[in-house]
Amino acid sequence: MKLHILGCGDAFGSGGRNQSAYLVEAEDRFFLLDCGPTTLLAMKRAGYDPRRLDAVFISHLHGDHFGGLPFLFIEFLYQRPRDKPLHITGPPQTEERVRQLFRLMYGGSAVGELPPVRFHILEPDQRATVEGIQVLPFRVPHQTQEISLGLKIQLAGKQILYSGDSAWSELFIEHARGVDLFLCECSFYDRGTGNHVRYVELLKALPRLECKKLVLTHLGEEMLARKKELAVVVAEDGMVIEI
Ligand SMILES: [Zn+2]
Ligand SMILES: [Zn+2]
Repeated sequence: MKLHILGCGDAFGSGGRNQSAYLVEAEDRFFLLDCGPTTLLAMKRAGYDPRRLDAVFISHLHGDHFGGLPFLFIEFLYQRPRDKPLHITGPPQTEERVRQLFRLMYGGSAVGELPPVRFHILEPDQRATVEGIQVLPFRVPHQTQEISLGLKIQLAGKQILYSGDSAWSELFIEHARGVDLFLCECSFYDRGTGNHVRYVELLKALPRLECKKLVLTHLGEEMLARKKELAVVVAEDGMVIEI
């Protein structure tokens, strides 16, 4: 299994990093974890044909995590049409919000004309299988009204835990046990707004994290300024992680 980091930035594009998108290749599957606005350009820059995508897993409905879908849609409608459906998987409201977003961005003739897509809604703690990719979603503390999910992905005998956006949660200790990679957001060093991971908290939990590999992502300006001091591997756009 291979994870290609297409975008490891936060909502503000801190450090000039692309917004959230992680491309996974395993067996004959090709899918995204999150799809920020910069995803299509990052895929093209890395030389990938977007038509190869089987599925997109959305952690939560913030623009930096799902705002890239309309660009994939117009690519599939006008530039590189695809026959097989793209499986879009995300928390409750995903279908409505994605359709609304597409309508806002490309209304008029595009209304209602999505390329072939199939929506799958994830409920917290209910396992699902999409195109042979197993996912265990669980609710994380990031939004209050809407549901933000952490995603535990399993395929080809490998497991990836992706925090999505979240404050630090003891659930990560439980779900990280034995996984091959824990991709954990870490927006702040020690400041923060209470709905993102702070590095100082993560450091305290580090001895109890039993994942095989830990990579920090979604770094904000405060974290980037202190990058040299960090004791944990930090994601970079373009980084490829063999799992
Ligand atoms: Zn975010
Ligand atoms: Zn968010």
